[in-house]
Amino acid sequence: AFKAWVIDKGEAGQTLALRDVDEADLMEGDVTVRVSHSGLNYKDGLAMTGRMPVVRRFPMIPGIDFTGTVETSSHPDYRPGDAVVLTGWGVGETHLGGLAERARVRGDWLVPLPEGLSPAEAMAIGTAGYTAMLALLALERHGLTPEAGPVLVTGASGGVGSVAVALSKHAGWHVIAATGRSGEADYLRELGAAEILEREALAGEPRPLGKERWAAAIDAVGGKVLANVLSMTRSGGAVAACGNAGGMDLPSSVAPFILRGVALLGINSVTTPQAPRREAWARLARDLDRSLLARMTETVPLAEAGGRAERLLAGQVRGRTVVSIA
Ligand code: NAP
Repeated sequence: AFKAWVIDKGEAGQTLALRDVDEADLMEGDVTVRVSHSGLNYKDGLAMTGRMPVVRRFPMIPGIDFTGTVETSSHPDYRPGDAVVLTGWGVGETHLGGLAERARVRGDWLVPLPEGLSPAEAMAIGTAGYTAMLALLALERHGLTPEAGPVLVTGASGGVGSVAVALSKHAGWHVIAATGRSGEADYLRELGAAEILEREALAGEPRPLGKERWAAAIDAVGGKVLANVLSMTRSGGAVAACGNAGGMDLPSSVAPFILRGVALLGINSVTTPQAPRREAWARLARDLDRSLLARMTETVPLAEAGGRAERLLAGQVRGRTVVSIA
């Protein structure tokens, strides 16, 4: 048996407990991993609190990402002892997840631990940081460079936001960090923000078009904030939408698209194919400043993971939380 956080559903509703799980209860997969670290992401908060129905099977082990060492494998790419990273693919939602000492998954979902990153660093990046990288890559693929103007990052004190600020600054952008936490201004400046924008400035009733402010944006918030971000994006600019921490809706108009040629780029980290997945990890390993990564990361033992979920959803957790397991 191994230790895992387990979400169960009974008549009294959803329960969450750290308990022993039998290896025989792990789901189908050709690679079994001894998990060393997992990350706490917004979606884990939703799963563990039951706030949104992201869990599609009970009992479920939460944890949408993990790093660890291969124990057994019948996949041609992986052998016992290999260090691996998993993010996405429904792990922690439909397939038993990473907040556990063991995980069994399809080898096709894994990537080798990128050269130059420790397992702990890979989970300090985690799904959130990897998503921030996908967002920056999407803006670059759209042809945007720092010469076009500033980049705005919303939800900047969170996991996606913190990594997005550091990566954008490293890539040469003038970074505007939008946050609801004015107390984190110094933190965001350390990560690379040149300007701080109060979340309030983006929370009003969206107008079709506003003053042109930024050439690019990485948005973790959605809702009215995203609508306002679009309305203030410069002609020819683009917004990478990667989150919904502020709402699933998008009360926008077509004005930014048809009058300014603004592009809305969707980011889905869950089912990204192997090639762009490895490209993103390699770029993270190359570009993300390790001391800034450490600055944005807090590490907790497995036993404390469950208690973090509510705080995460309440927007009280800064940067990234790594769960140290082995
Ligand atoms: P996180 O660490 O909790 O960060 C979310 C941040 O959003 C918070 O720190 C806060 O930033 C801001 N925020 C929270 N509640 C808000 C509200 N009601 N209105 C406006 N802003 C609010 O979460 P995360 O792990 O970085 O994830 C961020 C978002 O990206 C989530 O929606 C998550 O589901 C999504 N995501 C999507 C993908 C994908 O594949 N597309 C992958 C990873 C994450 P400030 O305090 O600085 O304002």
